[in-house]
Amino acid sequence: MTTMETYWEVQTFLAYEARLLDEERYTEWLGLFTEDAHYWVPGVENRGRSDPNGPYAPSRMAYFDDTLEDLRRRVVRFTAPTAWAEDPATRHLHVVSNIEVERAETPGELLVRSVIVNYRGQGDIDAATLYGRREDILRRVSGELRIARRSSSCGTRFSLPRTSTPSSRNRHDMTAPGTGRLDGQVALVTGGGSGIGRAIVDRYVAEGARVGVLERDSGRAAALARDHGDRVTVEIGDVRAPEAHAASVTRTLDVHGRLDAYVANAGVYDYSTRFEELGENRVVEGFAELFETNVLGYMLGASAALPALRDSGGCLIFTISSSGLYAGGGGALYVASKHAVVGLVRQLAHELAPDVRVNGVAPGATLTALGGLAALGAADRRLDAELDGIDRHIPLGFVSDPADHAGLYVLLADPRDSRFMTGAILPSDGGLEVRGAARRPKGAR
Ligand code: NAD
Repeated sequence: MTTMETYWEVQTFLAYEARLLDEERYTEWLGLFTEDAHYWVPGVENRGRSDPNGPYAPSRMAYFDDTLEDLRRRVVRFTAPTAWAEDPATRHLHVVSNIEVERAETPGELLVRSVIVNYRGQGDIDAATLYGRREDILRRVSGELRIARRSSSCGTRFSLPRTSTPSSRNRHDMTAPGTGRLDGQVALVTGGGSGIGRAIVDRYVAEGARVGVLERDSGRAAALARDHGDRVTVEIGDVRAPEAHAASVTRTLDVHGRLDAYVANAGVYDYSTRFEELGENRVVEGFAELFETNVLGYMLGASAALPALRDSGGCLIFTISSSGLYAGGGGALYVASKHAVVGLVRQLAHELAPDVRVNGVAPGATLTALGGLAALGAADRRLDAELDGIDRHIPLGFVSDPADHAGLYVLLADPRDSRFMTGAILPSDGGLEVRGAARRPKGAR
């Protein structure tokens, strides 16, 4: 039991937090958390009571699994002057109700349960509502209540009225339940620990596939194992090394018994370093690092996977980029490497027909941790921290999430839907092809 005074204090605190969010006062909102805060919103999936897969384990996927540092990074993005494409601005209304307060196990902390409603409105026709249950651990810091743990479960997905426009859909909805399109299939994804590769792995598993991954980052490999259990096997290694590919293909075949789709995806970026800035030495070193990862890595992987793909009548899928189709999305090294992959798709499609289909997906700007070149002193950069303002150049008006591309990799892996496709490159770039000379403001008729 807690006192009326404590209950009142908690209610006032939660109402204040809701108002800060309504008013987009995110920097002040961050001040409501303890330094060791954990913000967790696990994924949900609607499954029937008799679903043979049993209940969906919330530990498998999360919309948010954030430390305070992660939240700060998100807020930095929000506060950039170019972060918002909407005009007029979205209206928010956060409602907190059904508040229950009790003492938590740790002395000095409170366990607070509540129900939340978040209404978002934009213009006259575009609205979305999210309902959920929330459990907070509140702790006193210098006499003030602070959020130390937050766990929210979304009981209902965003619901959009039929009148909403396509560009207003919930970009972060990754709950789309699998439909078993890849039941019984086995895939291998390079760079499957992060970004686009990770979204492919998550979606393939959701569609019923088992997946091998070749990834050089051991932390990301551990996260895959934790989240997917025995449906995913990870080989830690570098795509520039032939033996890493041999090991990952062998492991995938040993554990899963076959290989149907090989996705060459691991890549690095040159952060648009201009050609003249490279100079002779940096061209040599930058070329070696970037082409060995983005091009040689794909060739080595294809070579290691081919015998198994011939056995299964499977397919190769290459992650390209809009930089494989247009200039200006990277520097000379990156753009040339992605054009090279376009050539590789076409040549291999030609050579391997009719036995193995070879296709590519060409994503545009995507919020990922895509890293730079050590040779150019950019190994620690990550792309998602540097994409502010890019949405202005994209006809559909937003920067994509990795999950926005994943369905195309399902399409290309599913022979029922793409058996007549080879040598194709599917752009997934918000419409760069139709940029034209000028863009209409959002909502203009
Ligand atoms: P990411 O950094 O989030 O994912 C790439 C993964 O590959 C990481 O887990 C990384 O550890 C791994 N990796 C990198 N080099 C490796 C190596 N040598 N050996 C083994 N693993 C390695 O980046 P992402 O954006 O998801 O990139 C995936 C692919 O998508 C790349 O080919 C990239 O060029 C392409 N792409 C990205 C964007 C974008 O805007 N993010 C746009 C178009 C294309």
